[in-house]
Amino acid sequence: MQQDQMYIDGQWIDAAGRQRLDCTDPYSGAVWASIPAGTAADADRAVDAARRAMTTGRWAALSASGRGRLLRAVADLITENADRLAGIEVRDNGKLLAEVQGQITSVAECWHYYAGLADKIQGATIPTEKAHAFAFTTREPIGVVAALTAWNSPLWFATVKAAPAMAAGCAVVVKPSEFASATTLELARLVEQAGLPEGVFNVVTGLGGDVGSALVDHPDVAKIAFTGSDATGIRIYQSAAKSLKRVALELGGKSPTIVFEDADLDLAAAGVMSGIFGAAGQMCAAGSRLLVHAAVKDKLLSKLIELASDIRLGDPRDPHTNVGPISTPPQYQKVLDYLDIARADGARCVLGGKPADGPDLGAGQFVEPTILVDVRNDMRIAQEEVFGPILSVIEFEDESEAVKLANEIPYGLVAGVWTTSIPRALRLSKALHVGTVWVNTYRSYSYMVPFGGTKRSGLGREHGIEAIDEYLETRSVVISTDDGPPVNPFIMR
Ligand code: NAD
Repeated sequence: MQQDQMYIDGQWIDAAGRQRLDCTDPYSGAVWASIPAGTAADADRAVDAARRAMTTGRWAALSASGRGRLLRAVADLITENADRLAGIEVRDNGKLLAEVQGQITSVAECWHYYAGLADKIQGATIPTEKAHAFAFTTREPIGVVAALTAWNSPLWFATVKAAPAMAAGCAVVVKPSEFASATTLELARLVEQAGLPEGVFNVVTGLGGDVGSALVDHPDVAKIAFTGSDATGIRIYQSAAKSLKRVALELGGKSPTIVFEDADLDLAAAGVMSGIFGAAGQMCAAGSRLLVHAAVKDKLLSKLIELASDIRLGDPRDPHTNVGPISTPPQYQKVLDYLDIARADGARCVLGGKPADGPDLGAGQFVEPTILVDVRNDMRIAQEEVFGPILSVIEFEDESEAVKLANEIPYGLVAGVWTTSIPRALRLSKALHVGTVWVNTYRSYSYMVPFGGTKRSGLGREHGIEAIDEYLETRSVVISTDDGPPVNPFIMR
């Protein structure tokens, strides 16, 4: 069995307490590897290495172009190792191999993208009202970044945090989810191979309550970049406030997919399917609430039932599989619990609604693709994130009711809009209180397009050019152009 180590200060080490955690393949149920169960002492060591890298090391002295060259080398190594990385991620979290392969292509491109931005970080000169002053700004790396990530797309989350942070000149400590750390450790291997100075990129594995909270409380961490649940995000925000750390939070959602009476229903049905049954619904952006116009509800529902009845559950490595297992035992239990909650509150199941079984289902952590009707927007199943393959269907009569239902929710991550009317698409993009609106498409992520939430879905934006700003702070410099002393040193002018 594979026994991984952590990567701290350019070295591969075990946890200070020598404890280990098992890595389980969600499909087969087999333990295939173990990772160190890091402690606060390991977090300390990693932060210290990152701080030294940023202040005295080779990284601190490197030009912006030099940083870009190193990030480009990481990107190329990811491409060379793409198949191997994809295989590891699937074994760790059970996501479909074909999907992970596509994601890893984007991961490599994302490193290239931020490598290209490293030497385009510029300040400004500022003409002021003062006669004898020259003012300019520089953009400085914010400091050591702690990146805490979730299990559903670990390599992607580590990338969209570390690549812009390192392009900005920061050093990073990544704490991947205890349920899926393997590809983040593989990324460290590639960073090492690319020749990055020690301490710039560190990975400390372990439990959130041990390593994660130690990083959040650490006085030398300047910024927390977090992807995970809203409950943990809120806890982190509260702890970070004590030392006024910068915080970016990518949290959960209960995203509406809104289908209007003028939509192309075949396209909409495919989009709804992808939004809730893709990755077994284990997506922050899952389109878990279908808001559908009363005039097309029955037609759309019968298309969805027909399509979803044909979904092939199975081994995520099999190219014929559409939906893989639920990734972790606690998540599996949570999905089943929500099925009970929904029924108890009066929702009616028109498809699925129970654990799936069958010969192709490995260790059996599968849930049938589920469609619920008779759902009201104020029910728990419509208001709380499940993170599983459960679609709640709610009917509306007109556009204003659709907007009201869509916005009456504590979350605000994404919304899908299906319509053939451009004016309506534009009106909705303005009226929906979310970070991203997808029109006639769903799950259309790009590392170039800003992504993040409003309300309980989070703070800050990842992806795109503006993600670099999350890791920079502006420094203002004002230089006197006057050779003589001030006329009156006690009066500011
Ligand atoms: P989680 O909140 O349980 O854990 C996320 C990370 O935080 C893990 O690394 C965990 O070890 C760590 N952690 C846990 N407790 C901590 C603490 N007290 N202090 C510091 N760190 C701690 O989330 P999860 O179950 O891994 O992921 C699922 C959640 O992530 C869902 O709610 C989903 O919506 C969200 N998510 C959001 C996005 C997004 O981009 N908005 C993307 C994917 C997943």
